[in-house]
Amino acid sequence: MTEEIFRRDGYMSEFESRVVAKDGDLIELESTAFYPGGGGQVCDTGTIRGEAVTEVVRRGGSILHLVPGNTLNVGDAVWCGVDWDRRYDLMQGHTGEHLLFASLKRQVPDLGIVKIHISPEDKHVVVDRDIGWEEVLEAVAFANRAIRENLPVTRSLMDRDDPGIADVRVRLDRVDDEYISVVSIGDIDLSACSGIHVMETSELEFLLVDRKASAGRDGTAIHFKVGDAAKDAALGLAGTCLLAAAAVGSDPDLLAAAVANMERRLASDAEAIRAMSRRELMALEPETVGDLDICSGVFHADRRTLTEAAERCKAGGGTALLVSSYDGVFAIVASADPRIICNELLPEVLKAFGGKGGGRPDFAQGGIDDPSQAGALLESLRDAVISAYKP
Ligand SMILES: [Zn+2]
Repeated sequence: MTEEIFRRDGYMSEFESRVVAKDGDLIELESTAFYPGGGGQVCDTGTIRGEAVTEVVRRGGSILHLVPGNTLNVGDAVWCGVDWDRRYDLMQGHTGEHLLFASLKRQVPDLGIVKIHISPEDKHVVVDRDIGWEEVLEAVAFANRAIRENLPVTRSLMDRDDPGIADVRVRLDRVDDEYISVVSIGDIDLSACSGIHVMETSELEFLLVDRKASAGRDGTAIHFKVGDAAKDAALGLAGTCLLAAAAVGSDPDLLAAAVANMERRLASDAEAIRAMSRRELMALEPETVGDLDICSGVFHADRRTLTEAAERCKAGGGTALLVSSYDGVFAIVASADPRIICNELLPEVLKAFGGKGGGRPDFAQGGIDDPSQAGALLESLRDAVISAYKP
């Protein structure tokens, strides 16, 4: 049984101990300040007598330190150091996670927590649904007020039969212990947790949510940062916002509305262009080249409209060479003339543009990536058709 120094003092990073067991690279100490991880928080790293501790795990009542290739022996008195920058970041992150979730729950009272991840590289909570940015921003503002008010963060043991347990965020069905370790943040949050926390909310300095991402069936991952990392991310985001506002000629405060307006305008312009392309395609007349009737052009039309026009041209005995630059570059070659093998001709031409295509002898389709090549692609198709039919 290892004495867990971090239980009584989360701020002790250097300590003296004794090696009580050794199993290859795994070292057990009499007492340790190395947190083995838990509650979503990853383990500490550091050194034992100057030798690197790369991982710490709990095995039963013991805590084992992975010290690859170590020269330690049972009975050695050793001076140990926990990597304090990493550990403090994880403590800030863990308290930040409690504070953030409590703040989100004020916005969405029946919100459920699915997973927690607190590591130096990434901190996030997975909640059981997507939440709007408005609610997230309200929650972040609330959390930062709590940080400024410097609320105490305390840990206590609570009898699982205590009626007060009803106010605690805990899944009693997942905890067997008679006494439950409860972490409180001022009077705004009570949560069952055996992780390591800071003592006051002001130690978080600042909390920022900088990303939301789908977590598949689990729900939504809400990524956050605390301390200097949060301040740096906020500076970066403020810069992006100012540059974007300047680019669209809006006041930064009105950026969201300006972008929404632009989106609406773009959608209605695109709709107008589609309608125009549709009319052009409907009115497309074939031109006669030798004994071929060719309907051709570059249009801003969706695939269905382009396909309908190609089928119409073919039904009239013609050859359609249609290119759309609407959603990537999409091309159709369709012909009623058996001399034109569409599913050979089109892939051959597309290959020269780095694209691919296929289909039937009388109807083939395909595409290329570069929208600036739409006109050149049409020219190549025309050349290929004209030279294919020539004797
Ligand atoms: Zn926790």
